[in-house]
Amino acid sequence: MRKKIVAGNWKMNNDVKKSLALISEILKKLPASNAEVMVAPTFVNLIPTVEAAKGSKVEVIAQNMHFAESGAYTGEISAEMLLGVGVKTTILGHSERRAYFNETDESLAKKVDTALKHGIRVVFCIGEELADRKAGKHFDVVGSQIKKGLFHLPAEAWKHIVLAYEPVWAIGTGETASPEQAQEIHAFIRKTIADKYGKEVAESVSILYGGSVKPDNAKEIFAKADVDGGLIGGAALKADDFIKIIESI
Ligand code: PEP
Repeated sequence: MRKKIVAGNWKMNNDVKKSLALISEILKKLPASNAEVMVAPTFVNLIPTVEAAKGSKVEVIAQNMHFAESGAYTGEISAEMLLGVGVKTTILGHSERRAYFNETDESLAKKVDTALKHGIRVVFCIGEELADRKAGKHFDVVGSQIKKGLFHLPAEAWKHIVLAYEPVWAIGTGETASPEQAQEIHAFIRKTIADKYGKEVAESVSILYGGSVKPDNAKEIFAKADVDGGLIGGAALKADDFIKIIESI
């Protein structure tokens, strides 16, 4: 059985006071669920948020990580630093990192290697831009992101990979892929993995959908066979909305 996951990406929102208020409200209202629940605060709020969530079912994860072990990389955070504050999972390759911070398939492949070397699980983001979709290139773009970012890995490493398909045109725009569009590309992603690693690996990888998931559309999207949960941006900043999304899985 694949893991169901709902992960909240808080991005560059919330100072420490607001982060603590949000995690505390989420913990208070957290429904009983088989889904794994994750939240990703900004780096400076990881320590108190990890502390607040200790012993709960919510895992506090990072939004990013550098590929180097240590050294002259001003402003960056290493795998060891994340582990040192109790963080065992990181998002990598979010489309905002790819677009605004020049992250490439090549640098992401290095980040994935460093994370896995340290036993850090990766939520690896992929997704096409609007122009790609309009030109009918979305399968090619997403296929290429998976191959270049992840296909150097051995089969056993996939136990530590979660995929998040996030069409760039649906992130923070209020536009959502229809449940059918999501299913179509999630099935394609799974087939792409199966063609390289076999059915067993492909069937065991959780593939999350992200892009304007809200309480009123989550159920329909999560109901699709190859959608194993969601990576949630805006709606993860409101405890009640995030809780309703968790209840939709
Ligand atoms: C995201 O950025 O990962 C995301 C899915 O954002 P939103 O839910 O706001 O579209």
